[in-house]
Amino acid sequence: MDRTHVFYAFFVMTFVIVSFSKMHRYGEQATDDFARNNEFNHGCIVDYILEGDPVQVELTSAMGSAAIKAAKGIRDVEKDTFDIRADCVNASVDDVKAEIRVHYVVLDSSGWSRTKLVDATRQAGRIYNQCGIHFSDIEVSVVDVDRHYTRVQMDEYFQLVSATRTTAEPHIYFMNQQDVYDSELWGLAYNDGFTRGLTGNRAEFMRKTGMQSLPDKKVMDNIALIVGNHREREDRYYAHRTLGLGVTVAHELFHIYGNCTCHETNRKNFMFAGGGRSRSQITPVQCARALDGIKRIRGYENHRIMTLEEGG
Ligand SMILES: [Zn+2]
Repeated sequence: MDRTHVFYAFFVMTFVIVSFSKMHRYGEQATDDFARNNEFNHGCIVDYILEGDPVQVELTSAMGSAAIKAAKGIRDVEKDTFDIRADCVNASVDDVKAEIRVHYVVLDSSGWSRTKLVDATRQAGRIYNQCGIHFSDIEVSVVDVDRHYTRVQMDEYFQLVSATRTTAEPHIYFMNQQDVYDSELWGLAYNDGFTRGLTGNRAEFMRKTGMQSLPDKKVMDNIALIVGNHREREDRYYAHRTLGLGVTVAHELFHIYGNCTCHETNRKNFMFAGGGRSRSQITPVQCARALDGIKRIRGYENHRIMTLEEGG
């Protein structure tokens, strides 16, 4: 069964340790390099050719030994970068009310292939398209990590987030299995309500993140974690599992936009917490809530960009 949870935790680190490396590491969009896409993508992928050395996480004096160890396990935060094209994942509807802008960060060892990412996003699109909400082009970064990340511990996950987050828009991390759960597929969202949970838990926060001190900026919200799926096409459970992936993407995004637990008792609704691939319904109330959330988070992002520009 896929298990879907929300919990509120808190954290923050120095915002984006290496994020702006991406700007100078970007080469040109590859227009004639579709050969490296596998046959299942059908032109859904736009590749970027990256130049320069692998991008590693910069170690800072705020990091304790756990955070340093985790950072050293990240060999390249941009091993591969590509876009999933919007026209490939949205149904064609005329009345587009809003766009979901989301970044995917994928561990290269997690079992998430390009095909699975495209298929899952298309399934998530089918849910949100009912509200006139479309996915925009999705930027995907594939991260090269060492064996340290085979089973992901919470502090390592947070470390990865701090090293790869580039905007205030939602980020979804496609990870390896985490020790605390046995399920093969589950999601977890940290929305902007979780900051309220920080109070009084400073020691626990620092223990989890491996940091020596509390950082001064709020940057860790609106992220979701989805654990990897290693099933292959020849596997008898592949189809079932893969269908569930798209619902999980839509489900976790709604925790972020709705800023709530938001679970429904109707088993056909995509916010039913018990799993299942047939969850495709979304109600008008949920549509309105998603629209509000998209606007809210866009506001943060605009504010962040403005602040960056003012600061030079
Ligand atoms: Zn949930």
